[in-house]
Amino acid sequence: MERVEKLLSEEEVDKRIADLGAQISKDYEGKSVHLICVLKGGAPFMCELAKRITVPVSMDFMSVSSYGGGTESSGVVKIVKDLDEPLVGKDVIIVEDIIDSGRTLSHLIEIFKKRNPRSIRLCTLLDKPERRVVSDVNVEYVGFRIPDEFVVGYGLDYDQRYRNLPYIGVMKFD
Ligand code: 5GP
Ligand code: MG
Ligand code: MG
Repeated sequence: MERVEKLLSEEEVDKRIADLGAQISKDYEGKSVHLICVLKGGAPFMCELAKRITVPVSMDFMSVSSYGGGTESSGVVKIVKDLDEPLVGKDVIIVEDIIDSGRTLSHLIEIFKKRNPRSIRLCTLLDKPERRVVSDVNVEYVGFRIPDEFVVGYGLDYDQRYRNLPYIGVMKFD
C-alpha cells in the first residue's frame, strides 16, 4: 500500500520559508530580486517565499525534465520551457523544490551564466546532501537538510500526485 509519512509539518515549513524570505530581504536591501521558478515542483515554494520578501520582486518560470514518473534520476536534463525574459543585469535567485544529485541546478547555472545576470544565487526548500554527485553547486539558501528518502508535498510529486500537500512527507510503500 502507498502512504505518506509526515516529515515536516505545515507550521515548520511555513515558518522556515518566512525566515528565508526575511534573510533574502536583508541580503538584497536596496536592490530587487528576479526569482526563477523551476517548474513544477518549485512553484508552491516560490509563491510562499515571494510573499515574504520585502524588496521588489519579479518572477519568471522555467521547466526542465530530469526525472521520469518514478523515484530514480535519469541523469538527463532537458529544457522543456525556457524563461520569457532576459537575465542581463539582474540579481537572480533560482528557486528549487529539492536538490538531490545537483545535476539539474548545475546545468541551469551554466545556461544562465551565459545570459549575463549581475548575480546568481540558489534557494532550495529541501537539500539531500548525501545524494550530491555534482560538486560545484553552492546553495546560499536552504530550507531544510533532509535524509536520503523520497519525499512528496509542497510541490514535490510522486507520479504527478501529492504536490498539493501543505507539508512534506516521506513516500512509503508497504
Ligand atoms: P537532481 O537533478 O538534483 O538530482 O534532482 C532534481 C529534481 O529531482 C528535483 O527538482 C525533483 O523534481 C526531483 N527529485 C529529487 N529528489 C526527489 C524526492 O525526494 N522527491 C521528489 N518528489 N522529487 C525529487
Ligand atoms: Mg525541482
Ligand atoms: Mg517529479
